[in-house]
Amino acid sequence: MSDFDEREKDQPGGELENIDTSSDDGKDEQKGSESNQTESEYEDVCFICRRPESKAGKMFKLPNNISVCNDCMHKTMDTVSQFDYQGMLNNPAFMDDLNKNLNGKGYPNIRFVNIADLQGEGGIPNKQKIKKKKPKTGEEPVLDIKNIPPPHRIKAQLDDYVIGQEHAKKVISVAVYNHYKRVATDTMDDIEIEKSNMLMIGPTGCGKTYLVKTLARLLDVPLAIADATSLTEAGYIGDDIESVISKLLAAADNDVEKAERGIVFIDEIDKIAKKKNTTSRDVSGESVQQGMLRLLEGADVEVPVGANSKNAMVPLTTINTRNILFICGGAFPDLEEIIKQRLKKQTSIGFNAELKDKFDKEKNILSQVTVEDLKKFGMIPEFLGRLPVIYTLEALDKPMMVKILKEPKNAILKQYQKLLELDEVKLEFDDGALEAIAEKAMKKDTGARALRAIIEEFMLDIMYEIPKDDNIGRVTITRDYIEGTGGPIIDIRSISGENPDHLKVIEDKNI
Ligand code: ADP
Repeated sequence: MSDFDEREKDQPGGELENIDTSSDDGKDEQKGSESNQTESEYEDVCFICRRPESKAGKMFKLPNNISVCNDCMHKTMDTVSQFDYQGMLNNPAFMDDLNKNLNGKGYPNIRFVNIADLQGEGGIPNKQKIKKKKPKTGEEPVLDIKNIPPPHRIKAQLDDYVIGQEHAKKVISVAVYNHYKRVATDTMDDIEIEKSNMLMIGPTGCGKTYLVKTLARLLDVPLAIADATSLTEAGYIGDDIESVISKLLAAADNDVEKAERGIVFIDEIDKIAKKKNTTSRDVSGESVQQGMLRLLEGADVEVPVGANSKNAMVPLTTINTRNILFICGGAFPDLEEIIKQRLKKQTSIGFNAELKDKFDKEKNILSQVTVEDLKKFGMIPEFLGRLPVIYTLEALDKPMMVKILKEPKNAILKQYQKLLELDEVKLEFDDGALEAIAEKAMKKDTGARALRAIIEEFMLDIMYEIPKDDNIGRVTITRDYIEGTGGPIIDIRSISGENPDHLKVIEDKNI
C-alpha cells in the first residue's frame, strides 16, 4: 500500500475527496462548488480513462473541473511515489509553493501538475457528459401507472393531429398504453408482459413517421428516428445498429434514464429484407435484421456519449433497451402481390374459385397481411417474432388529403393563415381550391408529403405580393388559381373599418 493510501485512511471523513491543491483563501473552493452546482445534472467523467462516474465510481475533484477516478488516481500516486523528491525539496521556490498549496492538508511530497495547463480547457463539453441518475427512492416508479393516459385518451390526442388511420391509431394507443404500463410495473403477478414493439406497414407519405412523432411529443418521451437503409452490421461502413441508441441518448439530453424509456422509430425497414439469390455477404439486409434482434428484445448496449461512433476520446455509457419501444415502419412494395397470391391460392382450393380475380380490385389488400407474407417478403422469423404488434395504414384518398390540409391542429393552411393574419390579411381557400390541391398531390404518389410542396409553390407569389399593398384585407384562393387558369380573389379593406371581417369588395385583382 502506498503512502497515499495510508493517509487516505487517516482522514477524518474516511474517503478522500476534493483535494484542493491551490486554495489558501478558499476562493478556488468556492469556484469549484459553483461550477459543480451548475453542472450537477451531469455525471463526472474521468479525465484520464474517460469513464463516467456511474462506471468508475466516485471521482476526485481537481481544480478546473477536472475529475479523476479512484483507479487512475491511485495509479498516478503509485507512479509519483516512486519519484525522488529530495532535489526538489531543497529548492526554496518549490517548498514555498508546496507549503502554500498543501499546508494543513497533510499531503507533503505530493504536488499535482495543473493538467488544465496542458489541455487548455479543463472540462469535457456538456454534450459528451452523462446526466446523473437520480437516486432511486424505491417508492415511486419512473412512470406512474396512474399517469399513463388510457388508450382512448391517447387516441383522442392523436385525432387532433393525424387524419384517418383509425385502426392504426387504435392499435398504437393500446400498444403504447400496455408498453408503459409494463415499464411502470415491471411485472404483473410474475407474468412477464411481452414488449409491444410494432411494425407498421403503409405506403409512403401516409403518416407513419408523423404518427410516431406526434405520439412521442404527446407522451413527452425522447424519440430517435433512423433509416434502416443507412444501418449496417458493426464493423462495416455506415452507421452500426447501436448508433440508433446513441441518437436516442442525444434526444434525451444525455439522460440515460429518460433514454431508457424512449421510442426508436426505424423507417424503411422493408429495405433490409433478405435478398433473394445473393451470393455475396448480405451486409445491409439479413445481417442487420440479425443485429437488431438483441436491441429489440432488451440488451445492455454500450454507447458513446455525444458522438456517433465509439473512439478513445469519447466517454461511453450503458443503456438497457428493455423498456425502449421500437417501432419499425416501411412501405413494403410488392407485399400486396404476395398477399394476393396467397389469397388466390386459398380460394382456388375451395368452392370460390370463380372469385379469383376479385382481389385485384380490392383496395385495402395490405390490411390482410400475415406474418407468413412478411417472411416471404424477406423478413426473418426471429425479427418478426420480436415485433408482435403488426398493423397497416391506408393510402390517403382525396377527402383525407383535403382534411389534412385544413383540419389538424397544425394544418398547413392554418400555418399560412396565421402568417398572413400577422399582416392583418385574411386568407381563405374555397372548396374547389382544396380539392384541386388534393388532386395534384394524388398524382405525385408521395402521399401527404406532396401537399406542402404544392402549397408552397403557389403561396410564394401570395406571400411576396400581399405585404406590398396595405389595402388588401382578404385573399381567397380558388381552383382556377391552383390550376393556373386564373388568379386569387383579392378584397380591399373597407375605407372606414379596420376589421377584416367586414370587407367591401372593390375589385378583383390578378396576382
Ligand atoms: P411516411 O408514412 O412516409 O412516414 P410521413 O409521416 O413522413 O410519411 O408524412 C409526411 C407528412 O405528411 C407529415 O409530416 C404530415 O404533415 C403529413 N401527413 C401524412 N399523413 C397524415 C395524416 N394521416 N394526418 C395528418 N397529416 C399527415
